[in-house]
Amino acid sequence: MVQTPNIPSAREFGPPVRLLLINPRFPESFWSFRWALREVLPSRRAVNPPLGLATVAALTPDSWQVSIVDENIEALPLAPEADIIGIGGMAVQYGRQRELLNYYRNRGYYVVAGGSYASLSPESYIGHADTIVVGEAECTWPEFCRDFRSGSVRQHYKETEWIALEESPTPRFDLLKLDRYTTASLQFSRGCPYQCEFCDIPLLFGRRPRTKTLDQIARELDALREAGARNVFFVDDNLIGHQPRARELMEYLADYQGRHDYPFGLGTEASVNLASNQELLELFGDAGFRWVFLGIETPDTESLAEAGKKQNLKSDLLEAVYNFYRNGISVFSGFIVGFDNDTPQSFSRLYRFILSSGIQVAMLGLLTAVPRTPLYERLEKEGRLRHDVPPGDNTGGSTNVIPSGMSYEEMVSGYDRIYRDLCRDFTIANRVRNKLRHFGNPRLPGKKQGRESLAMASRLLLHGILRGGPRRVAAFVWSLAGSPPRLWPIAMQDWAYALSIRAYARRHIGAARERERAMFHLSVQQLTGRLQKYHLRHKLDLVTEHAGNRLRLKIVVRADLARREARAVSRMTRKLLSRAPALLVALQFNEVSTLGRTCIRDLVEPLRRHADRITVQSHSSLLPWLDSSVFRIAPIDGQ
Ligand code: SF4
Repeated sequence: MVQTPNIPSAREFGPPVRLLLINPRFPESFWSFRWALREVLPSRRAVNPPLGLATVAALTPDSWQVSIVDENIEALPLAPEADIIGIGGMAVQYGRQRELLNYYRNRGYYVVAGGSYASLSPESYIGHADTIVVGEAECTWPEFCRDFRSGSVRQHYKETEWIALEESPTPRFDLLKLDRYTTASLQFSRGCPYQCEFCDIPLLFGRRPRTKTLDQIARELDALREAGARNVFFVDDNLIGHQPRARELMEYLADYQGRHDYPFGLGTEASVNLASNQELLELFGDAGFRWVFLGIETPDTESLAEAGKKQNLKSDLLEAVYNFYRNGISVFSGFIVGFDNDTPQSFSRLYRFILSSGIQVAMLGLLTAVPRTPLYERLEKEGRLRHDVPPGDNTGGSTNVIPSGMSYEEMVSGYDRIYRDLCRDFTIANRVRNKLRHFGNPRLPGKKQGRESLAMASRLLLHGILRGGPRRVAAFVWSLAGSPPRLWPIAMQDWAYALSIRAYARRHIGAARERERAMFHLSVQQLTGRLQKYHLRHKLDLVTEHAGNRLRLKIVVRADLARREARAVSRMTRKLLSRAPALLVALQFNEVSTLGRTCIRDLVEPLRRHADRITVQSHSSLLPWLDSSVFRIAPIDGQ
């Protein structure tokens, strides 16, 4: 049963209510591409904008004042002028989302929790939010707004039916700072007809794909074009869930691109069976799709059958990837290790497949059981769930699943090994060659981005290739040798992705972590010695602690530091962070006077380059001095 959203009109309300919507900071993950953002695309702060919040904003009565703050690109207001604060989030954002809910709630704001994790696990928000919104927002959010206005608001709003997407409004793209993201996003459909055992999409959005109309898509594309977006991601979990409508969309997009001088390079997610529908695949090329994310998961047919991934069993997976290349479309893919059928031998088979496929953006994850999925329920019955590991990020090197075909340690070390091998310079080069060998021409010309592309290429060469030394330069040259120059931009892009993934793996992968641990302990000893030298021992405490599978050095500042002292501590901390790329640092300021505010800045600001690994804990009155989109800030008076 599909329900039509009942969007309230401005008339139903009185004076404006001020609504602030917040997208919490993401922890670093495979998809952050932090290295590429910092070194190759410094004008961008994050990859994708919070489309869900822009949709919620569009569902809010016109008479309300709405703003969106994305903590990933801008500073968080610590005392905003707002009547309601809505905080969304996925599983991977849950920790930060909860922190922010608590912080604002303790300050007397009315806080609302939503997003995909609130839909999967609403009980996790009890005691942290005044209202929890479960399910799609199109019906529940307007209902919440009406109730809030009339003073009869409830604690829970739950969508009981799938909403009709034809009535979904154009997201408020105007509230997003699109120029700070690499890619803008929009959505055509929700739902997927398949039932992979580990996947939460059929639960969240149903098995019967629902789609927007082409008129709606036209309005959204116009809005994005006006906002100057060039790269656009269709966030659909499976854009070909309803193939006849996907075909109509492709024909429309090809026409739209032609009429507007090819403004967009497009990307999306789709199931692998797109490769066996040649006509539809060609239409994807005509529409301007540059890349598609496929859930290949594993080349092992028994594991695919175990996961219920039947659509991947119908064709040769390697040939499917090459077919995308022949049509000028790059392939990103997700791979999973830890299926019941997997053994220690499965790793080399998977590694060989990834190498031959030429897939550079190969998101390798450990099988993870997300609450309410069929996998979660099966493993719970079998007593094979680890409740001490949160199910948020399956690329973080740990999982809540206890494997059956090998020990947990064997699984994690096999996973680490593949990652390490894939990140070697010549393995990257080998994949570039294996891809370019099959690559055809992109079917649409795409808008020329001459000066920007040139700047990106030179930054990649300078900060990525040359900095890697003679071996990387040799691998880079070899990766291009023999391929036509028209394909070199594709190769450059793949190198940028690969070096980003390499930087991520250095921080998160086990073997690297072991080396780091030794380096860390040595460095902390040296740091302690130097603090002694600066007579700072009585003002600072150093505490070593575990943060998941990483080590964190906590520097507790117990008293005001003179400028000279603050700068010395900052210098030493910077050295430590440069030597140990996986190390996290928490700077805690306990007793800091007005004079000490400058000390916070003198100590913290010079650490900007390593900001994604630094948490600043302090009384909230001191934190406005810092940019929370750069440093992760944690007020210690509001938890
Ligand atoms: S095809 Fe993709 S979206 Fe659909 S159920 Fe499987 S994993 Fe989920």
